[in-house]
Amino acid sequence: MQIGQFPRKRLAHLPTPLEPMARLTELLGGPTLWIKRDDCTGLATGGNKTRKLEYLMAEAIAAGADTIVTPGAYQSNHVRQTAAAASLCGMTCEILLENRIKQADEDYRRSGNRFLNNLFRANIREYDGGTDMAAACQAVAEELRGQGKSPFVIPGGGSNPTGALGYVRCALETVDQANQMDLHIDTLVHATGSTGTQAGLVAGMHGSGAGTTILGISVSAPKEKQETKVHALVQATCDKLQIKAPPREVTMANSDYVGDGYGVPTPAMIEAIELTAQQEGILLDPVYSGKAMAGLIDLVRRGHWSKDQNVVFLHTGGAVGLFGYLNAFQ
Ligand SMILES: *Cc1c(COP(=O)(O)O)cnc(C)c1O
Repeated sequence: MQIGQFPRKRLAHLPTPLEPMARLTELLGGPTLWIKRDDCTGLATGGNKTRKLEYLMAEAIAAGADTIVTPGAYQSNHVRQTAAAASLCGMTCEILLENRIKQADEDYRRSGNRFLNNLFRANIREYDGGTDMAAACQAVAEELRGQGKSPFVIPGGGSNPTGALGYVRCALETVDQANQMDLHIDTLVHATGSTGTQAGLVAGMHGSGAGTTILGISVSAPKEKQETKVHALVQATCDKLQIKAPPREVTMANSDYVGDGYGVPTPAMIEAIELTAQQEGILLDPVYSGKAMAGLIDLVRRGHWSKDQNVVFLHTGGAVGLFGYLNAFQ
């Protein structure tokens, strides 16, 4: 498997650090905990979408695009990183925001990622919750073509086989780092939403033969639905890589930490964000990495892993989203 065959526009600061979380490990008394800092990918405060955008923007450039069209929630980290990438590539960005949170307050609707989008001069259109956003993107692309523009649509979360290549590359990078450090990684835990991150990691780990288990903590969908969605993208990504896909059982999601739904705070998320800040000086986010860390902490407390194992938390970024959730922390 050769990841180098795919066109890539460099946007991220790579490799991101793989570091121990010594204080959290000691406090919880379980396996040795590590953190892979994909919150440090660098583009406009970083996050996991930047790795996907390296492959997606290369495709947009090759297609001769002048405008990027992409959807997301009001506090979407994907939209913020895509708007920044479009700026960097000299393209216009058309953002379609879906109001997915019923009880959204002023901070959620104006601050955090939503505020940063304005700085990239992106054109922002707003839609009601439940809108078919993929269809809405196609309609906007059609409208732009009518104006003589060349739009390129990036799906929600940048999750298609091209975007997933970013996480195939991350899996290889992590294996390489572990080998350099004489470290055996048993499990890698991360937040899973639109599926590109997990699908890329599963395909990449499988291709590398390293045998690290990937565990996605769902931020919205129930287990069965999330695993099915991820596995479909694993297969499509393996087709692109021209490797045999791993069996369905390799794709594992845990949906016990979603709470009342996507973007809705939970007490465990608040505890995880405070604990990680206070023990490690690291900022997580309320929608994704906070819930994923809540899952990791709970599983450690329940004795899911033995003391001699090594568990890596993939920090997917998003801390600017904290400013959209001030009231949840009071
Ligand atoms: C988008 C996102 C995720 C989920 O990644 P997917 O590839 O959409 O599954 C996790 N964490 C953060 C901070 C994100 O912005």
